[in-house]
Parts: sequence; structure tokens; C-alpha cells
Amino acid sequence: MSDRTPTNDRTPTLARRDALRLIGTAGALAAAAPLASAQTAPAATAAPTAMNGHGFYRQKIGNMTVTVLSDGTAPLAALLPTWGANPDRQAEFTQTLAEYHVPATNTVNHFNPVLVELDGQRILIDTGRGGAAGQLVTNLRRAGIEPDSVNTVFITHGHGDHIGGLTTAGKPTYPNAQHVMGEAEFNFWVTQATPNDAVKNNLIALKDRFRLIQPGQEIVPGLTTVPTPGHTANHLSVLAQSAGQGVMILGDAGGHFLISLKHQGAYVSFDTNGAQAAQTRQRIFNRIVTEGLWVTGYHFPFHAIGHLRRLNARSYEFEPTVWNWS
Ligand SMILES: [Zn+2]
Repeated sequence: MSDRTPTNDRTPTLARRDALRLIGTAGALAAAAPLASAQTAPAATAAPTAMNGHGFYRQKIGNMTVTVLSDGTAPLAALLPTWGANPDRQAEFTQTLAEYHVPATNTVNHFNPVLVELDGQRILIDTGRGGAAGQLVTNLRRAGIEPDSVNTVFITHGHGDHIGGLTTAGKPTYPNAQHVMGEAEFNFWVTQATPNDAVKNNLIALKDRFRLIQPGQEIVPGLTTVPTPGHTANHLSVLAQSAGQGVMILGDAGGHFLISLKHQGAYVSFDTNGAQAAQTRQRIFNRIVTEGLWVTGYHFPFHAIGHLRRLNARSYEFEPTVWNWS
């Protein structure tokens, strides 16, 4: 998706509802406390680890903890033609959506940044939309992670729904993090004659914090960029590896979780070069299956992490992993 994504004007309502829910939880805990301490003395003081599902989903992969964090959703009146844009294949895509019972209208678009914890380091891949719509920081905290504890932020590409959360009210959201991005992708956006607000407020404003790297280069030990051009000309996905296991964090190289996987040649309307994006998808999907990698897609429906299954030489399906509460 791009910075043209509409903002979610229902956020204040959601935030208020969440606040009420939290007050309710605190009240219930306070009421239960005397009973608990009467039965077990002394009471454990360690904070309980939050269960998966309240805006985040943690998965152990090798020695890594990979946490998919929802930045929330945006209303989507119609899935087509945005997520399957080929003008001559609309009937085919419509039929697939019906076959898989995926709503074609009155649905939502998901945004799923990913946090990798490895060797004491916290690396965040993409930052959500920021502003009033962005839910990433709220959901990071629900997972027990403070933004100032993030060591590295990597940006897959310069669209607003990936860079918008780099700053909050003009200040870096992740003040102690090194910011990393592909050099060609970064330069493309910051040298625009009239950069959009997301680029101005996030990439240009923080330009001195960025370390710019090349396709195939390491972000930190264990995390390597994978060139996946097409959605943008210099889009980079991330392969995170540990103890013989790996996860491909696709960013927008994943496209749509059903149409882009099932239909060779399908592209999305936000792809800069649709033909190249579709070609890249075939290559990366093939690699994911061949190497038995885990996979996560930025716009896949939450919890957005699992594996791919090959249907035939040109067609794949996403298999979300079986839900685990811990
Ligand atoms: Zn996007």
C-alpha cells in the first residue's frame, strides 16, 4: 500500500473503548488481590506475560522471538481492483475470492510491522502509519516492549504506511534506535522535487539517523536484506535466521495473501511496476517454499505469519500458523 491509504477516523472511539477495557481489567485485578494474597503468601510480584492476541502475536523461530504487531486496520470498501489490479482478470479474481470466502466488499486493510528479538537486540521492521490511525506503539506496549528499548528500525520501502510511525509529534518514536534503509530506496524518496508529508516528516526529518545499506547486506547479525523490486523500484524484504530456521519478512513483496499468491502475474494497484512486482513474487514465493521458511506479509490478515504451500509451479497458498497463546 502507499501513503494514499485513507486514515482511520474511528481511532478515538477504539482508543476510548480500550481505555475502558483496561480500567475494567485493573479494577478486576484489584478486587481479586486480597483473595489471592490470602491464599498464597507471599504473592508473586513479577508482571504476568501478556498472552498473544491483543494486537500482537509472538512466535519462536530458532532462537528468535518474532512478534507481529498490528498497526490497526483501515476500512476498505472494495478489495478489487486495488489488490488484484490486472484489468483483464477481474472476473478470475472475483471468482477466487468467492471460492475462498474472502469478503470482496466492506472489508479492511491490515498493517503488520514485525519485531525480531535476537541475541539481546530488538529490530523493528517498518513502523506503520503513525498519526491518529497508527496503533503500533500501543500494541508494542501491550507486548511489554517500550519504544525506547528498540535498538534498530529497518524500513522496507518509502510508502507512508511503512514510514509514518518513525516520528510522533515531530520527534523520533524510537529515540535510541539506529535507523536503516536501502540506499537507493531512501535516495529515491528524499530527492523528490515535491516530497509528500510522510517523506518530509519521517525520512527527511530523520535523515541524519539513517544508515544506508545495499541489497543483500546485513542489517544486524542474523538479519539480511533480500532485493524484492517491483512494489517500489528498490523494495527490500528481510530474511531473519537463527539456529537453522528462518523467516522471510516480505513487507509489500507479499502483495495480497490470496490473489498475489494464487495467480501468477497478478499485481496490486500500488505496485510501481506491476509486471516486475509479480515476477519478484513468483521468485520469492518459490524460495520460501523451497527453503521451508516461515513467512509474514505486511498486509496479510493478522496474525499474518505462517508458511506457504505450493499448489503448482505457478500458484501458492498462505497457511497461517496454528494459533498459540504464548
Ligand atoms: Zn504497504
